[in-house]
Amino acid sequence: MVTAYFTHSSCDDHVSPAGHPEQVARLAAVAKGLAGIDLLRLDAPLGRLADVLRCHPQTYIDRVRAAVPAQGWASLDGDTYLAPGSYTAALRGVGAGCAAVDIVLSGQATNAFVATRPPGHHAETETAMGFCIFGTVAIAAKYALDHHRLNRVAIVDFDVHHGNGTQDVLWDEPRVLFASSHQMPLYPGTGAAHETGAYGQIINLPLRPNSTGADMRAAYAAYILPQIDAFAPELILVSAGFDAHRDDPLANLNWSTGDFTWLTERICDLADRHCAGRVVSALEGGYDLPALAAATAAHVTVLKERGHAR
Ligand code: ZN
Repeated sequence: MVTAYFTHSSCDDHVSPAGHPEQVARLAAVAKGLAGIDLLRLDAPLGRLADVLRCHPQTYIDRVRAAVPAQGWASLDGDTYLAPGSYTAALRGVGAGCAAVDIVLSGQATNAFVATRPPGHHAETETAMGFCIFGTVAIAAKYALDHHRLNRVAIVDFDVHHGNGTQDVLWDEPRVLFASSHQMPLYPGTGAAHETGAYGQIINLPLRPNSTGADMRAAYAAYILPQIDAFAPELILVSAGFDAHRDDPLANLNWSTGDFTWLTERICDLADRHCAGRVVSALEGGYDLPALAAATAAHVTVLKERGHAR
């Protein structure tokens, strides 16, 4: 079966101030990396307000919307900005995440990759931060649970930064196993191993600066993969940040492109065992453009091979 790929040109209207690492050119790099891969290419639909409300209150949505500038930029925090097109771009991410869940659960695609900007995993229930506005993957998880009536969804967040927003939104959600690996110490400062959620359903795996892909593989094999296996998910979501790559300028992990291949294969192994291969992956970080292109291509190539095999 096929691998679906959701993106939208309106994400390029989320224009960043000069020098900002979360820049328009990132999606062009992703597109370049995926150009040679045979994918079911779909436009990201606009997200529904009802789906955003699964994770963020109306007051927060209103505050974001009111802050959108007519021109130039508005700042939501030190490094999170809004351009005139940012609200719509963020809604494309929400729409793509939910549509990807739909297409995978309907059996029209085995798995899916969502490439939209802004990213989402730092967006807390009522706080935009870390370049993120809406919690795209957290919303997709809630949508899968409440709209599609699943009981167990696993999220793997391998972005080099802790997924504090996803953790905040899903802190007391027993139907989601949330596993995040991240460099520590690093922004945003959360993600210690003792942060385990209201039901022990959150797994935080801090990795030391200058640790390697081999360290990552050993840690995943020892901690994260067995716990997802025991959880027996009906769907696996991925917060796919590629900023743990050794060339990334924002962090100090030393993963190779091959490490992203290895990790994606292990995630697909679990999906094959428990949920007919169903994986929905969404782009988060990744700021060195050639590394982003190569690592995204490696990640989606595995999704494509596993999807095709079913
Ligand atoms: Zn990141």
